[in-house]
Amino acid sequence: MTEFNAQNGALNGAAADAVNNAQECAAADTVNNVEKCTAADDTQDTVQAVAPSANYGILVDYEWCTGCHSCEVACQMEHGLEPDRFGVKLAELGPWQIAGKKWQYAYVPLFSDQCDLCQERVALGKLPSCVHHCQAACLVYGTLDELSANLKTKTKQTLFALK
Ligand code: SF4
Ligand code: SF4
Repeated sequence: MTEFNAQNGALNGAAADAVNNAQECAAADTVNNVEKCTAADDTQDTVQAVAPSANYGILVDYEWCTGCHSCEVACQMEHGLEPDRFGVKLAELGPWQIAGKKWQYAYVPLFSDQCDLCQERVALGKLPSCVHHCQAACLVYGTLDELSANLKTKTKQTLFALK
């Protein structure tokens, strides 16, 4: 049975071989109410080689996005994109005062039509470049069935899929 830990972006369980970003938080500590994984090494950036298909996507848990832009740069470097072209682009919401002390402020990565879900990397058993370089572990690559199921576990998530 697959278990999803929304705060570290990891799917654990039998299906995690195919659904990745499986950074196991063996020694997760709690700092500022955010669970942080021990640093992932390259051996964790491997997944079972799978045929890229429309059945895969990326789940974004933007509650934990820091707005660092690493995903944007990782994609540009991986695909040789010009500085004004993006496979994924960060949108910034707010700050807007909604009422009293309640404010809207969020970073939300948006995927463009230039994203191919890093099919070449994935075919080699690697994670998509943006997923691998997200230090906040808020990007999760996996099957649409499992990712969509995880959408139900918490708010402030979006799911990107190819056509
Ligand atoms: S999955 Fe690959 S192509 Fe798509 S945004 Fe991420 S790095 Fe770019
Ligand atoms: S790399 Fe992760 S934390 Fe940084 S902007 Fe992208 S999604 Fe947000």
